Amino acid sequence: MSATPIHHPAGELLLGAAAGELCPGLHLAVSAHCGLCQPCAATMRGYEAVADALVPSLNAGSETIAPKFSEEALRVDPILGDLPEPVDSLAAEALAKGAWEPFSPGITALNLDSGAHLRQDKAQVAIVCVEAGIQIPEHDHAGTEALVILAGGFTDHRGSFHRGDISILTRGDIHGLQIHHDEACYWLFTNDEPLLSELLAEKEAQKSGAS
Ligand SMILES: [Zn+2]
Repeated sequence: MSATPIHHPAGELLLGAAAGELCPGLHLAVSAHCGLCQPCAATMRGYEAVADALVPSLNAGSETIAPKFSEEALRVDPILGDLPEPVDSLAAEALAKGAWEPFSPGITALNLDSGAHLRQDKAQVAIVCVEAGIQIPEHDHAGTEALVILAGGFTDHRGSFHRGDISILTRGDIHGLQIHHDEACYWLFTNDEPLLSELLAEKEAQKSGAS
């Protein structure tokens, strides 16, 4: 369908995910990348087989919810038909409860942090849609931020990112990015410290204060 990703998680991250040792947001991002990257998925399966042999219960009980996107939802957001597991079921769950929210001009977000374990660990998880051609100025990161590109692409000082590519940045990593001009860019956003929800809450407060 599309080219193989060129930006991959480090081996330790695949190992950490297989062993269930990563923060929940980062775990989700690595899983989503593996849903779009065959080489990493194969490596991950190898690690999981070892982890299962060592601790049989470790990967048990992680049942996935079947995605239930309506025809209407798929028509409005075609991206939804093309999401890797388990992002697809999280997105279906989120859309059943809410909708895309404006975040800043040209940027909308669908919060996916309704999963109990994600909420409990204060992981911020969202699908973010940024309009084609937008430039996001240089910024730092709170906590460990992982993006997995779902559609479209962007370029920063590390190169070009396309569907399936993973970007992991942490506090002190400064970058600005240019969204590619041909189409909107969708990415899975995860951050293992509050950031997105704080900003959304602040916006909510501003909105209610202004009315
Ligand atoms: Zn990969």
